[in-house]
Amino acid sequence: MIIIKSDRELAVMRKAGRVVALVWEALEGAIKPGMSTKELDTLAETTIRRLGARPAFLGYQGFPASICTSVNDEVVHGIPSEKVVLEEGDILSVDLGAIVDGFYADAAFTVAVGKVPREVKRLLEVTEESLYKGIEMMREGRRLSDISHAIQSHVEGAGFSVVRQYVGHGIGRSMHEEPQIPNFGPPGVGPVLRKGMVFALEPMVNMGHWKVQVGPDDWTVRTEDGSLSAHFEHTVAVTDGEPEVLTRR
Ligand code: MG
Repeated sequence: MIIIKSDRELAVMRKAGRVVALVWEALEGAIKPGMSTKELDTLAETTIRRLGARPAFLGYQGFPASICTSVNDEVVHGIPSEKVVLEEGDILSVDLGAIVDGFYADAAFTVAVGKVPREVKRLLEVTEESLYKGIEMMREGRRLSDISHAIQSHVEGAGFSVVRQYVGHGIGRSMHEEPQIPNFGPPGVGPVLRKGMVFALEPMVNMGHWKVQVGPDDWTVRTEDGSLSAHFEHTVAVTDGEPEVLTRR
């Protein structure tokens, strides 16, 4: 069952989304060569708490940090560490979430650390664009898989691949609610979208093959072929008009 949020609940989720957007901004401004991912985690946690929220990821199924930091061929769920120091030419994916008054917001972005080749820049651009292609489908009357299809078409049209094993999700009083939202599939299938549905859309896009594997720490997911991977995510509400991106900066 997909939980419909009331206007009052949506107002709280908007606050959680605002916190996530502000933390995203703070992190993006801080990321530079020489910085460890642990330092970024500390900045994220401090900022989330200063804004009166709680980090959504800390302790979630035992996750030991407030953000996920995934470098280069790492796809998602990388654990911040003082041993992981960013270098010029890396790409870094940051996934972050906040809880305000019992409601969650979730977002992710990938940035280039210093200069990266043109093709890598394109990977980041295409991944973010595909997220917005999905968001564009979050309108009353559309079907769930219209989102999936829009994302996949854009990514594969650009010559990249979408990860199959991890998917977007409903979000509200829990970080992961129904439905699951794959980033691939045919259009026109699944539940009809209604006002008050809130989803975290999150395409994970690989430069090479879509296959991924979980590392020895039981968290970090990497591309199987070692190719680079990017990740963008927003928490978005279906309204009676334009989709509302709750985590927009
Ligand atoms: Mg998510």
